[in-house]
Amino acid sequence: MRIVDIRERAVDISRYDDPALPSGGLNTSIVAVLTDAVVDGAAITGYGFSSIGRFAQSGLIRERFAPRLLAAPSAAILDDDGSNFDPFAAWNIMMNGEKPGGHGERCVAVGALDMALWDAAAKIARLPLHAFIKLRTRNQMADAGCVRVYAGGGYRYPADDRRRLADEMRRMLDRGFTHAKIKIGGAPLADDLHRIESAAAVLASSDRVAVDAMNAYDASRSLEAADALAPYGLLWFEDVCDPLDFDTHAAVARRYGHPIAAGEALFSAAEAQLLDRFGGLRRDRDILLFDPAHCYGLPGYLRIVDLLERAGWPRSAFWPHGGHLYTLHVAGALALGGAELNPFSFQPFGGLPDGMVVENGRTRLPQSPGIGFEEKRELAKLFAELAS
Ligand code: MG
Repeated sequence: MRIVDIRERAVDISRYDDPALPSGGLNTSIVAVLTDAVVDGAAITGYGFSSIGRFAQSGLIRERFAPRLLAAPSAAILDDDGSNFDPFAAWNIMMNGEKPGGHGERCVAVGALDMALWDAAAKIARLPLHAFIKLRTRNQMADAGCVRVYAGGGYRYPADDRRRLADEMRRMLDRGFTHAKIKIGGAPLADDLHRIESAAAVLASSDRVAVDAMNAYDASRSLEAADALAPYGLLWFEDVCDPLDFDTHAAVARRYGHPIAAGEALFSAAEAQLLDRFGGLRRDRDILLFDPAHCYGLPGYLRIVDLLERAGWPRSAFWPHGGHLYTLHVAGALALGGAELNPFSFQPFGGLPDGMVVENGRTRLPQSPGIGFEEKRELAKLFAELAS
C-alpha cells in the first residue's frame, strides 16, 4: 500500500454566498492524496484543503511537504500490520527536519495534507472520520452522535449591509441554526452595534449572537468595544486584538464579564500555552477556537487539546474554527463543546453534506466513510477534477 501521487491546486473562495461580491482575492489549497489501496473495487483518494481564511499554501505543499511523503518508504507511513496508512507516522515524515517555532503558514500546508491523509485512512477503514479518530486516539468518551453547532458568516456587505445581514440571519434560522456569529471591527463601533441589533432581532436574543472582531482592535479600541458590547450579553466576543497581544487580551478579560473567544490565529501548542498563561482567559466561560487544519492538522491539534486539558480546561471550551465537515468530525470525535458551520460562506467547502440538516442548533455526525466531502455535490466535482 502506498501513496501514488499528491495533487494540489489553489481555488478562489468567497466569504459571501453571492460570489460576485468582492472577497479580497481569498483562495485556498485543495489537495488530493491518491493511493493504490482498493476498497469495493475503487482506488482510495483522500481529500483535504487549507481550511479557510489563510490563502493557498501551494508552494509549501508542492515543494516541501508532498515530496517528503512521496519519497518516504511506504512502510514508514503504514500502521503496524500494514493494513492502512498511519496519519501520525505520515505527519512525522512531513515534519522531518522542521525546526520548532516560526510557524508562519507551513502549519496550514501540513494541515491540508494531514486532512487528506485522515480522509484516506478512514475510507480504507470503512469508517466515518469521527469514528476513525476515536479508534486511533483510543478516545473512550461516549458521544451523543450529534454536535452543537452555530452558523458562521455575517460578513459586512459592501452595500445595503443591515438588510442583507438580517436576511442572512433569517436563512440561518430556516436552516435550523439557533446561534450565529457576525463580523465587527471593520467599521465605527456605532455601526457595529446596529449590526448586532439587526442580527439579535432576527435570532430573538442577543445572547444568540457571537461577534468576531477579526483581530482588528488595538489596546484602546479593544476596551472601548468591550464596554460597548457588555450590555448585550453576547454569546462571545471573538478575536478581539492582535493574536499575540496578550496584554490587551488580559485587560479586556479583566473588564468584560461575558465569554471571550480566542486561539483561531495561533497554531502551535507553545502559542496555546502562552495564550493560556498570559491572555487572561477564564476556564469557566471562555471559548478556544484553534482550527485543527491550521494547527499542523490533527496531530498538532491533539497536542493543544491535551496541553490545555492538563492545564484545567474543559473539552466543552473547544469550538474549532473552520465551519466545514472536517472540524465537525473532530468536534464529535473528541467530544468538544461544538463546531462552527458555514452554511453560506466559503462554498463549496462550508456546511453540511447536501440534504443534511441542523435541528435546533445541533446536527448528527455524517456516516459515510472518510470526511464525506463526496456528499457535497459541488465540492465532490472540484475534488474529482483535481484527482482525475
Ligand atoms: Mg474568528
